[in-house]
Amino acid sequence: MLVSTAEPAPLSEPPHTVLVVDDNRVSRDQLATMVEALGYRAVTADGGLEGLRVVREAQPSLVLLDLVMPDFDGYKVAAAIKAQPRFVPVILLTGASDLESKRRGQAAGADDFLTKPVHQVELQIRIAAMIRIRALTEALDAANRRLAELADTDALTGIANRRRFDQLIATEFERCQRYQRPLSVLTLDIDHFKKVNDTHGHAIGDDVLKVVAGVVAKSLRTSDHMARTGGEEFVVLAPESNPSGALALGERLRRRVEGLSVATPSGSLQVTISVGVVAWDGVGVIDSPGLLKASDDALYQAKEKGRNRVVLALVRGEAPK
Ligand code: GH3
Ligand code: MG
Ligand code: MG
Repeated sequence: MLVSTAEPAPLSEPPHTVLVVDDNRVSRDQLATMVEALGYRAVTADGGLEGLRVVREAQPSLVLLDLVMPDFDGYKVAAAIKAQPRFVPVILLTGASDLESKRRGQAAGADDFLTKPVHQVELQIRIAAMIRIRALTEALDAANRRLAELADTDALTGIANRRRFDQLIATEFERCQRYQRPLSVLTLDIDHFKKVNDTHGHAIGDDVLKVVAGVVAKSLRTSDHMARTGGEEFVVLAPESNPSGALALGERLRRRVEGLSVATPSGSLQVTISVGVVAWDGVGVIDSPGLLKASDDALYQAKEKGRNRVVLALVRGEAPK
């Protein structure tokens, strides 16, 4: 439900797995033995197609790739490995004076080259250098994922922020419209929150926001989404709920918030929320701003009627032209 970027499958950690792809059994085994002697775990593949399969299955940290192979040569294998999102270094094995092969190999995606027969120390240096680069790339990817997550998260409550919400509603709305599935939007706003700040201070106000966000988040299904869209305003997207289900959800959230007590130096504090619910049946033409506006209007009515209550609005899209 909350924003989290899916973690990729675990990488092969030290001892790193090095894949040797070579159609010649003797040179394949020789290289694998050298790789093992350097303290790495060696896996082997007989030819390019098998090599690609092992890349997927063994998730190696590096590939030593023979260039000349009958079925699927080194250029093709290098290109296929580089088409994957994860950086897997490829060292291409070429003939000593074969500059044109190196040029083509580099263009296909090879990161470095070794000439046959491979010297142990040279192999050690090239593998170590490539694994260092790969580690830096992984660290950078992890930092970028973390930044992307932060950019989508409200720092105070840890739930999705407005920016993320705009993406979520766009995706959900499109899906529901395409498949004519129902979608409900619940807009929640803490009642008289300004008074909480004025009476107890901003820090207690922040505690209230965290506690309310937490209890709402815990009350949702995994397919629901929730975001903090304003100061003391939250929005819940509930796919696949009919009007009575959406109303029941709004009522459950209202009751749970009412039942909370937040500790303050001057005793415990109770707060309430007003909730505007809009239930869309997924039929007809409407747009997501229209849906949000209807939910907001319902919230306004709930406030008008005295707060601490839930108001339901039904929308039907216009018939498609
Ligand atoms: P109503 O029942 O009509 O919703 O009244 P209200 O007082 O809740 O609404 P109003 O919009 O007048 O006040 C909202 C307050 O929320 C004002 C603002 O200072 C406070 N607020 C907004 N963001 C934060 C925050 O991050 N932390 C704290 N502590 N207060 C915040
Ligand atoms: Mg309010
Ligand atoms: Mg408000």
